[in-house]
Amino acid sequence: MSVQVVSAAAAAKVPEVELKDLSPSEAEPQLGLSTAAVGAMSPPAGGGDPEAPAPAAERPPAPGPGSGPAAALSPAAGKVPQASAMKRSDPHHQHQRHRDGGEALVSPDGTVTEAPRTVKKQIQFADQKQEFNKRPTKIGRRSLSRSISQSSTDSYSSAASYTDSSDDETSPRDKQQKNSKGSSDFCVKNIKQAEFGRREIEIAEQEMPALMALRKRAQGEKPLAGAKIVGCTHITAQTAVLMETLGALGAQCRWAACNIYSTLNEVAAALAESGFPVFAWKGESEDDFWWCIDRCVNVEGWQPNMILDDGGDLTHWIYKKYPNMFKKIKGIVEESVTGVHRLYQLSKAGKLCVPAMNVNDSVTKQKFDNLYCCRESILDGLKRTTDMMFGGKQVVVCGYGEVGKGCCAALKAMGSIVYVTEIDPICALQACMDGFRLVKLNEVIRQVDIVITCTGNKNVVTREHLDRMKNSCIVCNMGHSNTEIDVASLRTPELTWERVRSQVDHVIWPDGKRIVLLAEGRLLNLSCSTVPTFVLSITATTQALALIELYNAPEGRYKQDVYLLPKKMDEYVASLHLPTFDAHLTELTDEQAKYLGLNKNGPFKPNYYR
Ligand code: NAD
Repeated sequence: MSVQVVSAAAAAKVPEVELKDLSPSEAEPQLGLSTAAVGAMSPPAGGGDPEAPAPAAERPPAPGPGSGPAAALSPAAGKVPQASAMKRSDPHHQHQRHRDGGEALVSPDGTVTEAPRTVKKQIQFADQKQEFNKRPTKIGRRSLSRSISQSSTDSYSSAASYTDSSDDETSPRDKQQKNSKGSSDFCVKNIKQAEFGRREIEIAEQEMPALMALRKRAQGEKPLAGAKIVGCTHITAQTAVLMETLGALGAQCRWAACNIYSTLNEVAAALAESGFPVFAWKGESEDDFWWCIDRCVNVEGWQPNMILDDGGDLTHWIYKKYPNMFKKIKGIVEESVTGVHRLYQLSKAGKLCVPAMNVNDSVTKQKFDNLYCCRESILDGLKRTTDMMFGGKQVVVCGYGEVGKGCCAALKAMGSIVYVTEIDPICALQACMDGFRLVKLNEVIRQVDIVITCTGNKNVVTREHLDRMKNSCIVCNMGHSNTEIDVASLRTPELTWERVRSQVDHVIWPDGKRIVLLAEGRLLNLSCSTVPTFVLSITATTQALALIELYNAPEGRYKQDVYLLPKKMDEYVASLHLPTFDAHLTELTDEQAKYLGLNKNGPFKPNYYR
């Protein structure tokens, strides 16, 4: 099977891409990609064996600068069902931005401010003449880190180190390290930790079936041959699986961390050992952060032609320091809400000079991040911080959107008595239909054991609510922004704060009543639990497909704008994950397809479907 996205619907204001099915197979879902190679990656329909992880011996040789010419992948023409790329002008889209706490403002000088946060954070781009050799002191490092973007400072506790020698105070920048092949084109905490990192990567591979499937199906065909990808994401075992997949698909990669705390040093070491130029370690200073990004980009004899970013810092670094690089860059794939905001702002200002893919808003990713991930991680976050038993506890969940639905379902399954608050009658009715009591927060605030916010709104839990809560009530937030709970109102002289555990504060009233505040009102699951690898598998697969699509798209298909992945690719990401469950997908008969007005091979839903 090979399928192809062909030309953009040229005249349309919102560009549309047509999908061309070159040789449809009854047995396989069709993929809206421009390469035969990727077309060949589509999974078997109707179950089959889960994709087994590739043994270590099969791992691709590490790509390094200067190897591998671009393989031209031939486009073909034809007519097929179309998937339109949604743009900023799409009303749903604007709403999404807003719901996600997204009032990121980009000033003309490139400064980004995230408006809805209590503490506004500004990204300060290092001066052109920044001296990287100046090492900040330890205190300096801490204070510097505050000015980096939110995505750079949100911590994933999953990034805990397994072998970290935290007593080793030497900055990786001061160390002379080489991997076993003699390369020193990397900067990690300790290359000797590579073996531990390799084990972590192998564990992650088990839960990332789609990437492993892409690797297998790409054998022989390299849809990313010639791609030089510079990446800036969390450096975890899951990212390593993605990078090694990109390598297997033919790309050369250089990578930095998008977060100063989230790098798994062992994984970074494993990647460096297998030849990936990785510049990252846990606990970077701000100076280190930009230095690492610069080392990825500013290389003699190597220029990136694709960007994979999470948070937009890498993209902005290139905009600020090396704008000429964009002449060779074919596209940007952006993962985060914040980074996507920045891209839309650039696009609006007419400054976006290459096409960009917003993978954050892909349907599959959204569903997994919001609903399924939260359904699992709410319990994990609460358990790790409080050791509580859920059965019989009274819980109020504010907001019955995707995240709220996930939280409610998990708590109900554990035997909790769950109340819901909502402002939207439709979501409210859904809560009722699902068997939850719809209440106003005031009605239950005195009796509940746990309060969870997941509205994307601000001041949902006010000081008045906090005053009325019962002793030992647990208060936490699962929404994007830390403004859902008015934590600032608790910083008053009559209240005492006691840090009882990492991420757990007791706030004590003069009469002895205490509430248990988790993660100071920041995202509970990202602060206090891990994100399931399977969820990250969806994200990573979406990123890989977006890179393939942008890299192989013929000139003119994508303009200098921000696009969503075509629905068909979203469906493809989902289908790649089905074999894990031995799931058997029903195929439309010709008659049924005609009746529904669908192509038998998808897309099965309109682009606006969520
Ligand atoms: P959503 O828009 O689907 O749901 C939010 C719901 O809250 C809506 O139904 C809305 O009507 C309701 N709401 C708004 N204000 C309210 C108020 N004052 N009281 C009660 N209900 C109110 O959004 P979502 O996908 O569920 O995401 C919710 C938040 O969680 C967002 O900020 C999102 O960025 C964040 N998020 C968190 C994670 C995570 O891992 N914790 C993952 C994805 C998204």
